Amino acid sequence: MNKEWLRRSIRSFEPYDVPELKEKIIINANESPYNVFDFAEVKADFMASFAETPSFRYPDPFAKKLRAALADYVCCRPEEVLVGNGGDEIISVIINTFLDADDTLLVHAPTFDIYSIDAQIVGAKTVCVNDLPGFKRDREGLLQKVKELQPKVTVICNPNNPTGELLPLSFVEEVVQAAQNIVVVDEAYLEFAGAESIIGKLNKYDNLIVIRTLSKAFGMAGLRVGYAVAQKELIEALSLVKPVYNVSSISQIAALAVMKHSQMILQHNVPPTLAARQYLSEALNALPGVTAYPSATNFLLAQVPDGAAYVKALSEADISVRAYKAAALKNCLRITVTTMEVVKKVAEVFKKEAEYAQGGN
Ligand code: PMP
Repeated sequence: MNKEWLRRSIRSFEPYDVPELKEKIIINANESPYNVFDFAEVKADFMASFAETPSFRYPDPFAKKLRAALADYVCCRPEEVLVGNGGDEIISVIINTFLDADDTLLVHAPTFDIYSIDAQIVGAKTVCVNDLPGFKRDREGLLQKVKELQPKVTVICNPNNPTGELLPLSFVEEVVQAAQNIVVVDEAYLEFAGAESIIGKLNKYDNLIVIRTLSKAFGMAGLRVGYAVAQKELIEALSLVKPVYNVSSISQIAALAVMKHSQMILQHNVPPTLAARQYLSEALNALPGVTAYPSATNFLLAQVPDGAAYVKALSEADISVRAYKAAALKNCLRITVTTMEVVKKVAEVFKKEAEYAQGGN
């Protein structure tokens, strides 16, 4: 193919790296270990709606029922919700709604890559404020950059992927207040944080968009449902760009069945994840040369002396974790926290590897 057929902005792109995995234990993408269809109530409600869903009809473009259910869950109005094919599509819609070529996207780094990738596609530039040592956000630096650049879009991922750090709501609000343009607060992992959402402050901010997803705590990654929460006018602006029939009927009815039982699912899924996270964090931090950073999510970022050796040892134990090419994340592994059984296996591999590196056996 002639490369010049491509938009100039994507000619240098590498394909998004989704390696084929041979390991049995896949803990590289922050997925839940729990299947929503294993809840009898969810399955029954889904099957009942499924039987009545005509495949020849387009889905409801406004996902009216689902918006109402999501609004109920996050305590806002249905017109303050926009549903997408995962948070990923919401991010793409936001970038395409607000960024022109040569506009600026401001992010802290490291964070979720998709923001800067989507910005690059539209020809916008990304300015990064690097974390301070220990993967702590540079709060002063971030506030200062917002004031100095007034970027078209600023993103705060809270808690952050891949570091796990949770910022206090008061600081996030300071950023929203300092920005004259859009601030996106990505709360994909909020259910694991035990923290207050900024959605409670929605009425105060006409420049705030919050991203949430059913992929993580609700275990629906395969069905692709995420949503934006913002004041009505912003939702209307995003709706101009959203593909009309974006979320399939099947995804909408599955998400509705899940939201009907949201509290039961959260009570089942979240506490064991938090217990496993604590176990793994303590086990890794007890090892020489290994640091597991504090996390308010369903994953841990661990820094080790030799990342490649740990990835290999884990792979030999049939475990796949996420490793990184970026210099800032050298020797860092992101480990999705699933069940106690799995984290115990992970901890064992780490222990052996750390002992081996110390010259033990
Ligand atoms: N935001 C963050 C911070 C994420 O880590 C992810 C997924 N890894 C998403 C958004 C998008 O998730 P999804 O498209 O599955 O809703």
